[in-house]
Amino acid sequence: MIHIHLSTAVRGVARKLRKCRSEFAGFILRNAMNDFMALITPPAPPDVDEVRRLARHGCLDIHRVSWLRCYLSRDGTRMLCWYHAPDAESVRLVLRHQGFTDAVVRAAVVSGDADPGALAESRDCRVLELPADSGTSAALSARLDDAHGGRYRALISQQGDLALLVVDHDRADAVADTLGSAGIALIDEQNAVEIDPRPASLFSTLPGAASRAGRPSRRAGQAVAPGDAGGMLDAVVIGAGLSGISALHRLLGMGLVVRLYESGSGAGGVWHWNRYPGARVDSEVYTYVFSFSDDLVREWDWQELFAPQAEIARYFEHVIDRFDLRRHMRFDSPVVAVHFDDGGGFWTIETADGERMSARYLVAATGALTAPQMPDYPGLDTFSGVSCHTARWPCSGVALAGRRVGVIGTGATGVQVIQTIAGEAGELYVFQRTPTYCVPQRNRPMDDADRERIRRDWGRILDACRDSWGGFVHDFHPVSGLAVSAADRRAKFEELWRSPGFAFWLGNYADLMMNPEVNEYASDFLREKIREQVDDPDVARRLIPDHPLGTKRVPLENGYYEAFNRPDVHLVDLRETPIERIVPEGVRTSRETIPLDVLIHATGFDAGTGALARIDVRGTGGASLADKWRHGAQTFLGLMVSGFPNLFLVNGPHNAAALSNAGRSIEQNVTWIARCIEHVRESGFTRIDASAEAEKEWTEHVVDAANGTVLAQMTDSWFYGANTSGKPRRVTIYAGGAREHRRHCDAVANAGYPGLDFS
Ligand code: NAP
Repeated sequence: MIHIHLSTAVRGVARKLRKCRSEFAGFILRNAMNDFMALITPPAPPDVDEVRRLARHGCLDIHRVSWLRCYLSRDGTRMLCWYHAPDAESVRLVLRHQGFTDAVVRAAVVSGDADPGALAESRDCRVLELPADSGTSAALSARLDDAHGGRYRALISQQGDLALLVVDHDRADAVADTLGSAGIALIDEQNAVEIDPRPASLFSTLPGAASRAGRPSRRAGQAVAPGDAGGMLDAVVIGAGLSGISALHRLLGMGLVVRLYESGSGAGGVWHWNRYPGARVDSEVYTYVFSFSDDLVREWDWQELFAPQAEIARYFEHVIDRFDLRRHMRFDSPVVAVHFDDGGGFWTIETADGERMSARYLVAATGALTAPQMPDYPGLDTFSGVSCHTARWPCSGVALAGRRVGVIGTGATGVQVIQTIAGEAGELYVFQRTPTYCVPQRNRPMDDADRERIRRDWGRILDACRDSWGGFVHDFHPVSGLAVSAADRRAKFEELWRSPGFAFWLGNYADLMMNPEVNEYASDFLREKIREQVDDPDVARRLIPDHPLGTKRVPLENGYYEAFNRPDVHLVDLRETPIERIVPEGVRTSRETIPLDVLIHATGFDAGTGALARIDVRGTGGASLADKWRHGAQTFLGLMVSGFPNLFLVNGPHNAAALSNAGRSIEQNVTWIARCIEHVRESGFTRIDASAEAEKEWTEHVVDAANGTVLAQMTDSWFYGANTSGKPRRVTIYAGGAREHRRHCDAVANAGYPGLDFS
């Protein structure tokens, strides 16, 4: 056996292969167009686990790159990888991101047995170098196909400068003989291991239920009947937002006996609580709401593309009556404790007014952004004017006209409040700690023609959302921002900036969230737009962020920047003049005391884990969820928590919703949960729990996915828990995108729930 570097071999044949390129054109093409091969010299020899870890990065998906196969030389010095991708640049970007800077990437023709399953996972194989004088491509493929039934794989660059054959180790000699008898003597060969690095293999190594389908269930044929456990409910849902109502409707549809508890006096979740001026949705509203009923789509007439809070709250009330859900709901009933009964395998649920209930399954639809967070300035309680958090805005409203109003916070909420009340308040003081990039929302009224189009195309719209990275009607432009000229890039940015919603963010170049250079081009474009819109250059300078675009959810603005051109709107930059304390008459900064009548806290939420942490959640052995998450959330798929059997989270931590269209992510979560419960019941089990191993794997994947994006460059946000004192700085959201999240969830369900323990 001669051991050589693949690159040496490749160089050796490249020159000659170029000559016989036309011959190879006749080679049987099975995967032309979107196949790419990459020859890599890793900076340090990776092992199989490392290759798998790299493959799970969300950036593969964001670039629409599927990593099909990898051949890792035994000495770890070379890798030959096979991808499906839109273009070579996407592959290069992914490789650069994974630290492989010197890869040779070529569009490839793949021949032989193209079924990735043909060569077994992690099997020993040999990579054979083809000589240039190997005869015609047709002869080569015919001989191999005849003699070996196509059980080889040839990766040949379309340029004709790389040509490698991969065969099972056991067959390598026979293949060499076949080629030899055709007058083709190999130049060289290398022992390698074949790896299937496709992200779908996440959890596949776990002991799971892959064989469960064929295994007799504990009580096969005796599905648990609704309410079978001595009057206990089948399920309790906590929360009446999009998540809770979706779950309630879905579980009732399965014939379960379900009750929903909600702390507020009405339905809507965030849309019930966030009644502050200017609150409106940031997803095109018709893509955000329930999709479970075509009748609902036909019946409800949306008035605006990005509907305001009041319209959405009305919609929720309509939905719960239209589908007769109200009788299953208890309002003004905050859940204070949920304890798992180890012996009985059910949850007991206790509300603030002392009601106790038991249920087999518990769905925590408590929301990611529902635990309001007040700033911790000294003297907060001493303010003598009206003060409130935006997420606890009183139903009766707050009188603002002509008054001196302060707003602390310039996230998505602060932006909406500020642009709406500028001009109404007598004087408006904006207390800004970190500026943020806003893009124009370009909201507009919807007319009959819009509604008709939506109803007609409803199926296609849902499909488009499902197939997009973030569940929106927008999706990344499948081209690298580096693959175009500066002029073209600028023209694209301008076009996106003129489009509604998140077009500029999630319809931008494919590597916006991956490549700091591309991100900087886009960020810089927005900085320029801020300068154009704000008259005073000094104010503009303070409004300009320096972090990468998209590392916070991008607020959509309707006149935000122009508001700062008004003489009665004042920007207080807290980086220059921090707040020292709140005093009875207003806010004292390091420079002055600003007198106020109203102080609005748009200061965000204890996000992701906050709502559940406020409930006494105890799993097996009385273990507390708050304790478990003290050093950061740990979940399985963002949907379950090990040690807390039969508890499901909708839109919980580690979920894709923070970067996606929450409505679409929530329905995907609920569908998975319903299917899982159905599976447990049909199998005759009563308890399901995530294994510690599966939870660890998902939690590590969540960290990996974020590290594969620019998010990791700016951790001062609720995405990392930075806005809540005492919280560990750990990523709380899934950065791989909604499509990727769904893919992992579906893979688990389709494989019979590996990673979950049934009993
Ligand atoms: P947020 O993004 O966490 O923003 C909170 C703001 O308050 C930030 O500007 C923050 O500054 C500031 N802040 C917090 N504590 C402060 C303190 N002690 N002193 C001074 N400033 C302080 O919260 P949010 O704006 O409520 O938005 C949260 C999420 O809700 C969004 O990311 C989005 O997902 C969702 N949302 C969506 C919409 C929509 O359009 N549908 C509207 C509103 C909210 P720092 O940045 O320096 O921490």
